[in-house]
Amino acid sequence: MPRLRLQVRGVVQGVGFRPFVYRLAHRFSLTGWVRNRPEGVEIEIQGETGRISAFRAALENERPAAAHLISIETELLSDGQERSFSILDSALGSEVRPSVPPDLAVCLECEREIADPGDRRYRYPFTNCTHCGPRYSLIAGLPYDRSRTGMAGFPLCEKCRREYEDPLNRRFHAEPVACPECGPHLRLVIDGRVGSEGDTALREAAHLLDHGRILALQGLGGFQLLVDATSEAAVQRLRQRKHREEKPFAVMFRDLGEIRSVCEISPKEAELLTSPAAPILLLQRKAGELVPSVAPENPRLGVLLPYTPLHRLLLDQVQHPLVCTSGNISEEPMAITETEALEQLGSIADAFLVHDRPILRPVDDSVVRMDSDGPTLFRRARGYAPLAHPVKWEGPPILALGSHQKSTVTLVKEGEAVVSQHLGDLQSLAGVRLLERTVEDLLAFLGATPGLLACDAHPDYASTRLAERLAARFDLPLLRVQHHHAHVGAVMAEHGLEGPVLGLAWDGSGWGSDGTVWGGEALVVEGSQFQRLGHLRTFALPGGDRAVKDPRRCAAGLLWEVQGSLDGISDCLELQERYLVERALERGLQAPRTSSIGRLFDAVSALLGLRLEAGFEGQAAMALEFQAQESCDLGAYPFELKDGVADFSPMLEALLQDRRRGLPVGDMARRYHQGLAELVVAWARMAGHSQVVLCGGCFQNRLLTSLCRQRLETEGFQVVRATKFPSNDGGISLGQAWVALVSAKLKSLGNY
Ligand SMILES: [Zn+2]
Ligand SMILES: [Zn+2]
Ligand SMILES: [Zn+2]
Repeated sequence: MPRLRLQVRGVVQGVGFRPFVYRLAHRFSLTGWVRNRPEGVEIEIQGETGRISAFRAALENERPAAAHLISIETELLSDGQERSFSILDSALGSEVRPSVPPDLAVCLECEREIADPGDRRYRYPFTNCTHCGPRYSLIAGLPYDRSRTGMAGFPLCEKCRREYEDPLNRRFHAEPVACPECGPHLRLVIDGRVGSEGDTALREAAHLLDHGRILALQGLGGFQLLVDATSEAAVQRLRQRKHREEKPFAVMFRDLGEIRSVCEISPKEAELLTSPAAPILLLQRKAGELVPSVAPENPRLGVLLPYTPLHRLLLDQVQHPLVCTSGNISEEPMAITETEALEQLGSIADAFLVHDRPILRPVDDSVVRMDSDGPTLFRRARGYAPLAHPVKWEGPPILALGSHQKSTVTLVKEGEAVVSQHLGDLQSLAGVRLLERTVEDLLAFLGATPGLLACDAHPDYASTRLAERLAARFDLPLLRVQHHHAHVGAVMAEHGLEGPVLGLAWDGSGWGSDGTVWGGEALVVEGSQFQRLGHLRTFALPGGDRAVKDPRRCAAGLLWEVQGSLDGISDCLELQERYLVERALERGLQAPRTSSIGRLFDAVSALLGLRLEAGFEGQAAMALEFQAQESCDLGAYPFELKDGVADFSPMLEALLQDRRRGLPVGDMARRYHQGLAELVVAWARMAGHSQVVLCGGCFQNRLLTSLCRQRLETEGFQVVRATKFPSNDGGISLGQAWVALVSAKLKSLGNY
């Protein structure tokens, strides 16, 4: 009888892969064994040839949804002695390469159990199995077993133990397994006192939601704030209390059918929503289905499905969609303990639905949009982090500290890059503490001691200062990577490129090598070096940081640059304000110069009367995109390229003329987008490299990206962009790590 050895690599531990193999072997009457190895799972099977091929096919086709296979190597062996198939103890390697699975959305089988009155887990909100449940948010350390998870304090009852030890059971070695007898329980806290417990607590919480109350829910990776999405008054109250005037909220629906009644949804989008990652997905809205304040003036809606049994039970109970937003105040990290939640959310929530299963680290909901050329990640956290990304690297571990907003940390270790979950902004002390904790956490988790550090070139970022402290403490070299270089590097890391490429890195701002604020960059990147081929012509931002929240100031800076006056701005800037802005521009005081295309978007948005003030970052640019996508091709506004510098004055002149002629705003917005696409082509021709990287927050704009792609591909260029990591500053740490890696590689080859 033939015998085969299979070496399976990928995310195959902690996702029910060995029991799956065991069941397959039984189905096809094969003998042999399966065991975990440091690099994956090893299988030996023996039996009739036809059965072996059937097993081999089923291994890939029927694998657990959360398993990610990278490769399967096979080898023919001589006969073995076993009479049956068994699961062996893990093979001990010299060094185990740990693999940490992300948190997994509740599976269909567990959902069936909690809905079945005859099942012992009926209505139990902490039901899980090897295919689903908490992982990264619950694991304290590796190797992954129950004693090193938040479930350490819950000894298994007899029934759960039997399931846990039975290789044919889908709870075989499901570390967080629990039942009503031995697992965690719910409590409803109102006014600091425990009201009810268990299922009663859940029913009462649902009742409060039905009456328009705001509920703080201890979810999977942190607290969330929930409110009835069909009640305008309730949503308004949440906005007031959270001081979040306009930024869109995500909505959790009971099922795909409910989502379909509100949004357009493609099969691919449906597949992603129901996958183990179960992110918040941005969909195109249908007209007039939800209350306006859920996502004001936004044609898209962030939707998600219940991804834990707790959410499932709650949604089934309330019978209406729920606004579902992170439980934090302003830009601070999410609360993960009951104490934190009561302290931070006490003035927002009317009640707290909490439990005693600890959350070990904050893991926020991920935010994704499906575009025709792949996914666009806005926030990478639950369901994605900390999935490792393969990179070619054998040297000492590299730690990169990331940016200042949408912060992440990246650790590169032996052939893989691990990017942390989204940590948020570092403006607050709590944000900086979370960054420090995540660095320690990641190093301990992966058993790594860094040999090289990387950070942003900005001297005042909290991440830069932490990098400096770490470099001093451990006596390590520190590489400062220019912000936009890192943006390009992130995409090169994702696609394994070393260049030369032309990278268009467009965003709000980043510290430039010449001390000015960059943000509309055309960089040629090769190896660990970059050359600034070109950039947007600079203009002054009166009031500096104030301009970020005030697109009118961006418009003023732009007009001043071109015509030396504020003519044409009258309808959007009040008289007194105008006087102050004019003085600032005249004297050049408190008016830093920038080449930022993010700010150019703000300026154009204000000039077209779309957004005079921005309630949140990117709002003005989004308004411009939404207007433009309603319009069709009317020809591009011209930018003039002189020695690589893109002059916006012809664009501005044409736009002001169109405005005087009373052209519809959508048409002008469209012409502006097309102008940028032509500019990209002009830079690509100038650089003459076949690969063009589109990166930075501006390329989260779907219309801009697709127009650039169309034009570049027509001209014979290959477009590369981020699809696994965010294009915004969430990807910066990966880009820094990539630049450090390439530079260290070249150094060791003596080329640096
Ligand atoms: Zn399950
Ligand atoms: Zn139990
Ligand atoms: Zn950036």
